[in-house]
Amino acid sequence: MPPELAHAAEFGRVLLVGAGPGSADLLTLRAARAIEGADALLYDALTCAEVLDLAPARCLRIQTGKRAGKASMRQETINRLMLRLARRGLTVVRLKGGDPSVFGRVGEEQAFLAAHGIPVEIVPGVTAASAAAAQFGFPLTHRGEARRLLISTAIVADGHLLEDGWAAGADAETTLALYMGRDQAGAVAQRLMAHGRSAATPAIAVENAGQRCARAIPTTLSNLARDLDAAVPTGPVVLIIGEVTAQADIAAATLSAEMRRPLTVST
Ligand code: SAH
Repeated sequence: MPPELAHAAEFGRVLLVGAGPGSADLLTLRAARAIEGADALLYDALTCAEVLDLAPARCLRIQTGKRAGKASMRQETINRLMLRLARRGLTVVRLKGGDPSVFGRVGEEQAFLAAHGIPVEIVPGVTAASAAAAQFGFPLTHRGEARRLLISTAIVADGHLLEDGWAAGADAETTLALYMGRDQAGAVAQRLMAHGRSAATPAIAVENAGQRCARAIPTTLSNLARDLDAAVPTGPVVLIIGEVTAQADIAAATLSAEMRRPLTVST
């Protein structure tokens, strides 16, 4: 056995890899190579088949997210599983939607694995807000218009509305990208307006950003919750609030999505 393989058999490792928003062609090359080299792959229900297909035939595939009424694996179970697989000498790839450092629990997993002496590598990915902005043709920052980008969740761990911190999103030059905000869109809009953000601020809700089936719902801050409810989204939704969203070009996005072709990555 070559020395580097003997080393790998003795010491496994874990890669926490950003899978991007759900299209294989929005993976980084580093992420694609990590998947191609995986001995074990842990993935969520939302991971697309094109991405999973990059894993070698020998790779152990384990779904950790919800599907068909089954509950998600508990975080503690996922941590223990990664540890067990790495201790068997495997290269474990833990795939996470978007960027693992944005609401991806990467800090918790990294700390757990490091505490058990397992080497960890993080591979970044395209986060939902970036994918939404690119696909629908608007920037997240814009000179003289949006000097700050605030990435926030609407909820705390138990699913309730995050009560504090909304003043930061009320500034007219802030673009607010709201994750996990679908059910709390109205409450968040109320708080932003209470802190002085104009009711007429342009906003956009993007469902399945980065995918062929993406849908954008352009609206305003005061109409955000109503328009979102009327659209009845079934996929993940990122809400982006700020002047920059007025630049969105929804017709152009449809055209470019049709022109995209599946990409095969080889190393
Ligand atoms: N790490 C992910 C975010 C995980 S939190 C990232 O960087 O994108 C889960 C939330 O992300 C969802 O509730 C939704 O608000 C958002 N999200 C994830 N994927 C999305 C997609 N393809 N389109 C729109 N929103 C998405």
